Amino acid sequence: MSLLAAPWDVAAAAGADRRYAAVGDHPGGAAYAVATAVAFLAVGETYSYWENRALHRVPALARLHAAYHAVGSPTPFAALTLAFHPLDGYAQGLYFHAFPFVVPVHRGASRCSTAAVRTAVM
Ligand SMILES: [Zn+2]
Repeated sequence: MSLLAAPWDVAAAAGADRRYAAVGDHPGGAAYAVATAVAFLAVGETYSYWENRALHRVPALARLHAAYHAVGSPTPFAALTLAFHPLDGYAQGLYFHAFPFVVPVHRGASRCSTAAVRTAVM
């Protein structure tokens, strides 16, 4: 999964994403930072729902996702035990890579939102 995600990190390190470091770096200030953090969470949850639904409904994707359910009793540690097909895992994280390339988001809000969603998924 790391190899699939690496181009996102390389692009972000090159400054191609739209993350900003200080609340004052965006004209919307704190209100914009909070609104985009909430949007990041809300859109992320929606993405996760539809992505997971596709994993169960689209036969080609369901075959990839079968590894996860083959674990028997999925736990928060399933991701650490190679229970995901690499493309399944990448698809589940794709949104978190893509959002900051589309929407200007405070770097801290981006990190907090990603951590909150990952915790909720567990
Ligand atoms: Zn499933």
